[in-house]
Amino acid sequence: MKAAVVHGANDIRIEEVDCPVPEPGDIVVRVRASGICATDVKTLLGQGLPKDLPTILGHEVAGEVSALGKGVSDFAVGDRVAVYPIAVCGECDYCLGERHNLCRHEFGLAHGIDGGFAEYVRIPRQILNVGGVIKIPDELSFELAAMAEPLSCGLAALRVNKVQPDDTVVIVGAGPMGMIHLLLAKWRGAKVIILEKMPGRQEFARKLGADAIIDPNNEDPLEAVNKLTDSDGADVVITSLSDTQVIESSLPLVKKGGVFNIFGGPPAGQRINIDPRWIHYQEITITGSFASTPMDFREAIYLIATQQIDAARLITDRFTLDSMLDAIERARSLQMIKGVVLA
Ligand SMILES: [Zn+2]
Ligand SMILES: [Zn+2]
Repeated sequence: MKAAVVHGANDIRIEEVDCPVPEPGDIVVRVRASGICATDVKTLLGQGLPKDLPTILGHEVAGEVSALGKGVSDFAVGDRVAVYPIAVCGECDYCLGERHNLCRHEFGLAHGIDGGFAEYVRIPRQILNVGGVIKIPDELSFELAAMAEPLSCGLAALRVNKVQPDDTVVIVGAGPMGMIHLLLAKWRGAKVIILEKMPGRQEFARKLGADAIIDPNNEDPLEAVNKLTDSDGADVVITSLSDTQVIESSLPLVKKGGVFNIFGGPPAGQRINIDPRWIHYQEITITGSFASTPMDFREAIYLIATQQIDAARLITDRFTLDSMLDAIERARSLQMIKGVVLA
């Protein structure tokens, strides 16, 4: 089969590789849509490159079941599915506490095993065992089903940050995930302020329904947020980028008693300065949210399928495996919001 194979930092090649074969309890999915995530680009550039190379990236997968491992009876060849990408044990304290993303024994697509930038991908039994393979309705396109994974990560953030209707949410960084936080916070009934320096992305966020856009090139974010919130600050600040300096400078945007979330994964070895008096006297909650749980994933599929979240508005670019290198280039140069590889 054809696959986009990563051999090292900045070294991705379209190659012929062996088709995956299901082990007992596994399935193999013929990939019809595979979303491109900022994580893929970071990984490709060498941040957190897996030690077992070569590997295949891609963890936002939808497609058709093409082979069943021994003992699989819940699926049939040809079923249309979306796939939660983390293979979790289902038995550790985190899994039992519905925090599968922190599982003590986790691995997953593009993270230990081959992912979805290929014609076929093996889905290990651990993913099936936690209900991570979801049959999708006939009328739901594969590209929209592939949006379930990033949407589920946004839902996880909404849950962790306890975003309430009528909250003011500041989203720092309007990349693909920032746009998802925007759609979800609006869906929840919050007022959304976007902080973004790229004009194209400001415009995109405005079209998606942002209540206000702050351009840090032209205005001081703190003054601007104060102006928009009666000098209060935001109930929730979500930093959806990996620039630690921007994360640090965004701390004062949150109001007394508010929640400051670090959503984007910064590079290793960086630090931010926080005044402990500020956390104490203002009762600031600092949260992290990383990936999602199978429950978030199922909710994401439901919100997309019922059109409560219009995920189609996020997809700006479509590629094939053969144009994968262009895809990576467009993602790296921040020219697209959400790209998806289709087959
Ligand atoms: Zn992703
Ligand atoms: Zn576990």
